[in-house]
Amino acid sequence: MKARITLLGSGTAVPTLKRNSPGLVVKVEFGDLSQNVQILIDPSAGSSQRLVRQGYPVEDLTHVLITHFHPDHTGDLVPLFFALKNPRFEKVGRSAPLQIHGPPGLNQLIKGLRGVYGHWIDLGDRVAIIERQAPGGELYFSNPLFKITAVQVEHSENSCAYRFQFPSGKIFVYSGDTDYCQGIIDASQNADLLFLECAFPEGEKKSGHLTPSEAGKVANTANVSKLVLTHLYPECEGKDLISPCREHYSGSVIVGEDGLSFDL
Ligand SMILES: [Zn+2]
Ligand SMILES: [Zn+2]
Repeated sequence: MKARITLLGSGTAVPTLKRNSPGLVVKVEFGDLSQNVQILIDPSAGSSQRLVRQGYPVEDLTHVLITHFHPDHTGDLVPLFFALKNPRFEKVGRSAPLQIHGPPGLNQLIKGLRGVYGHWIDLGDRVAIIERQAPGGELYFSNPLFKITAVQVEHSENSCAYRFQFPSGKIFVYSGDTDYCQGIIDASQNADLLFLECAFPEGEKKSGHLTPSEAGKVANTANVSKLVLTHLYPECEGKDLISPCREHYSGSVIVGEDGLSFDL
């Protein structure tokens, strides 16, 4: 089994030249090709294009996971559906529909979008909308060793982080947006790799988001091996994010960049 994780966007809702809107892709390859998965987490504006640029064809997507319904995390749903509606993708054989997973509110979001765009974004039985009853919960896959758990975090209503446990035993976690809370610590327990939001620099704390020192505290308390800071607002540029983080965390920490990839 081989898992590759690529950060598609290390930024936020604020457009900058350096950072795209948040989100990443996880590709897991097994010996049996039919079990391969390609998972987009947070379909932010432009993420379909960035998937292709990073070598992940949109037609290979098997799952889309949404952390919460802020527009900077969901803005590409319409372009993605419309792209997959293109006749060239109808010919691509797929035994299972593309699964769109999200917390409570997902059905309402999709219904609203279809109310505006109608059949242009309706993929029929080629897509399955899977709304969880609660923000947290487990997502099921055909491979029982491959487990994804959603854990509620403190941000907007029903926000969650996603925790991946690969068949190799390696653990990868993506925080989505979160304030300092027990949820993100629980989700990140013993993670080999944690992509953690760090929206604002030290001394510029905003409710619902983390600062570098708080990110360090999460990583330390949860015994994380490698920490990647992401979801960086322009206020973070030119600021030292690493030092305040290191005051609380002695593991490996880096500032995320678009296109950064890791193999687990
Ligand atoms: Zn956000
Ligand atoms: Zn948000």
